Amino acid sequence: MHRRRRTRIIATLGPTSSTFDMIKKLSEAGADMFRLNMSHGQHEDISKLYATVREVEKITGRPIGILADLQGPKLRVGVFKDDHVILKVGQKFILDMDDSPGSEQRVQLPHTEIYQAVTPKTELLLNDGKIRLHIEKVSEKEIVTKVLVGGELSNRKGVNVPSAILPLAALTKKDKKDLNFVLDLGVDWVALSFVQRAQDVQEAKDIIKGRAWIMSKIEKPSAVHSMDEIIAISDAVMVARGDMGVEMPMELVPAIQKKIIRHARRVGIPTVVATQMLESMITEAVPTRAEVSDVANAVFDGTDAIMLSAESAAGAYPEEAVATMNRIAMSVEGEPSYRRLLNKDVASPEATTADAISAAAKQVAKTIEAKAIVTYTGSGSTALRASRERPETPLLVLTPNIETARRLTVVWGLNCVYSKDAINFQDMIDKACNICYKYGYAKINDRIVIMAGMPFGTPGKTNVLRISRVLENQINI
Ligand code: PGA
Ligand code: MN
Repeated sequence: MHRRRRTRIIATLGPTSSTFDMIKKLSEAGADMFRLNMSHGQHEDISKLYATVREVEKITGRPIGILADLQGPKLRVGVFKDDHVILKVGQKFILDMDDSPGSEQRVQLPHTEIYQAVTPKTELLLNDGKIRLHIEKVSEKEIVTKVLVGGELSNRKGVNVPSAILPLAALTKKDKKDLNFVLDLGVDWVALSFVQRAQDVQEAKDIIKGRAWIMSKIEKPSAVHSMDEIIAISDAVMVARGDMGVEMPMELVPAIQKKIIRHARRVGIPTVVATQMLESMITEAVPTRAEVSDVANAVFDGTDAIMLSAESAAGAYPEEAVATMNRIAMSVEGEPSYRRLLNKDVASPEATTADAISAAAKQVAKTIEAKAIVTYTGSGSTALRASRERPETPLLVLTPNIETARRLTVVWGLNCVYSKDAINFQDMIDKACNICYKYGYAKINDRIVIMAGMPFGTPGKTNVLRISRVLENQINI
C-alpha cells in the first residue's frame, strides 16, 4: 500500500491527464502530488481537476497533495491572426501595445513596464529563448527589433529580458484572483513564479495566512542571488530550470540545482527539481539516456521531489513518464553510493528537541534494525525534521490532520497515515504498532522506533523516543 520509494514524484495535470481514469493511473504509476498550472485553463477546468484528484484519493486510500502553480509576472506576447508566424533572421519585428492580432511584422506586448526598462542594443528572448531579438529603438509604446535568431512564434509565448530588472509586482492581478480561487478550493500548496526576493514571498504569505504551504520557484538571477533569504521564509523551493535556463547561462543551472538542494536541506525544507526531466517523452514512449541520467542525478543530489510538466500534462505518454521516473528513482535509491552521498550532505542537527530526537531515532533504528520510525505530528514540523535526517529506516507519519498529510506528500521519505491523536502513552505505542503492522512495515515481534510529544496534542513538543516490539494483542485495535 505504501511506497518504498523515498523521492517524491509530482505530475502536472492538463489536457492528456484530466480524466478520473488517467489521474488514477498516474497515481498508481507513482505520482505523489499533482500540479495545477494556473497559466493554462479556466477556473472551471481547474475545479474539475481538483475534484477528480480528491475522488482518486478516496479510492487509493493514500493522501495526495495538490499544488497550484501561479503564473506570476511572466511576460507574454499577444495573439497572431493565424495563431503563429515564422520570424526570419535579419528581418525587422515590432512589439507594441496594440491588441489587434499580430503578423510577421508586429505583435502586441501588453506590459508597460518593459518599455521603460529596456534600452537599445539589449536582447529580448522569446519562446523559451529559442528566438532572439536585438532591440534597435524603444519608445513609450513600441520596441523595434531585428531578429538575431528566428523561428516559429505562436500565441502568448513567453518573453524574457535577462539583462533588465523589471519593476514588476510579485503577484499580478490574475495571480491574486487565481490565489483566492485555489485557496477556496482547498489546495495544499501554492507555487510562486518569478520570485525575485524574499519580500515577494512575504507578500504572498500575508494573503495566504497559512491556508496552504508556499513553494517559491527559483528561476530568476535575482532569486538565485538571494536564495538563502527566500529559503528562510518559504515552505519549499522549486529549481525551475525552464525559465532559469533562459534567464541565465544554461551551463550554470546544474551547479545552481545542487546548491539550492544543499541549502534547502540544511534548513529542512523540501526541494523540487523541475522541467525537461523527460522532455522527449512528450512524443516518445522511451526517454533519452541523457534524460535518464538527469533524473537519476537529481535523485543523487538528494532532492525531495522530481517533477513532470508537459510530459504528463500534454504528452502522448503520461503514464509511461511517471513509471519511468519511478523506476529511475527506485534504482538510484538502491545504490550504496546514494546512501553515502545523502550521509555526506547531512547538516548537523539544530539545538532543538525535535532535531535531537530525529537524529537519535535514525541512529537507534539502524542499530537495532527497527522496521520503521513512526512519528506523530500535527503541523508536520516534526515529520520534516525527521525527513531532514534522511534515515535508512522507513518513515511513517501519523497525523490527525488530513491537510498535513497531504502537504507532506512532497517530502522525502514521508509516508503519512491519517490517524486520531493518541489519548495516552500506551495508546501511542499501540496505534504505532498496529499501523506499522497493517501497512506492512513490521511483522509480529519486529521492533519499531516511535517519536512523539507529551503531553499529547501540543504542537512542537516532540520529546519522547520509544522502542517497541509489535505484539499480537496490539493488532487491529
Ligand atoms: P513553468 O515553471 O513551467 O511554470 O515555467 C517551471 C520552470 O520555469 O522551469
Ligand atoms: Mn517558469
